[in-house]
Amino acid sequence: MVATLPTELDPSTAIYDEVLPARKPWSRVIKKGQILRIIDLEANQAVDTLFYNAHDFSERYSAPDTVVRQGNIFITTGTQLISNEGNVMMTVIYDDCGRHDTLGGACSMESNSVRYGLHKKHLHACVENYLLELSKYEMNKRDLVSNVNFYMNVPVSEDGTLEIVDGISEAGKRVDLRAEMDVMVLISNCPQINNPCNAYNPTPIRLIVWDAA
Ligand SMILES: [Zn+2]
Repeated sequence: MVATLPTELDPSTAIYDEVLPARKPWSRVIKKGQILRIIDLEANQAVDTLFYNAHDFSERYSAPDTVVRQGNIFITTGTQLISNEGNVMMTVIYDDCGRHDTLGGACSMESNSVRYGLHKKHLHACVENYLLELSKYEMNKRDLVSNVNFYMNVPVSEDGTLEIVDGISEAGKRVDLRAEMDVMVLISNCPQINNPCNAYNPTPIRLIVWDAA
């Protein structure tokens, strides 16, 4: 447990503090005990995120295990992000957005062409961002699994229907994640412009990392 409340974490004491431009991929190893803050700078920016054990990439985030373990389909304060081996990778220790998605998946050239037409195939997408970033770790498409979409609004209706709709986030909303193991965090700052996940306008996010308290 951290002694300091995340609301009291001071960016001037952070070991990393950068703005990730719209549409860009990013990755970094967050060591056990460190805290990663993701800030939605301009509101309703989907942040497609995956997690890998930094020492064994075959252990990675598992959406079904996370949903089952917490008995809820949304990610929010208190959610433990569970790996395919049943271990807690990170804990959401603070969230002032309210809920985040782990059902909607990441956009790709293929899904864009199927959903929005072949003429959209050339558009920049999250899967391509992931593959570009994963190549630094000698990983490829086989290493992609269902991800977390921070700030993406995917309400589920009573009959189970899913829909990607306009977001519930606002400028400055943030999520704080504490690493429970050494985790390689992979982000695609979603470039999607064909559905409301980014309010049709991809925007930058801010990423801050603090050392263990
Ligand atoms: Zn996307």
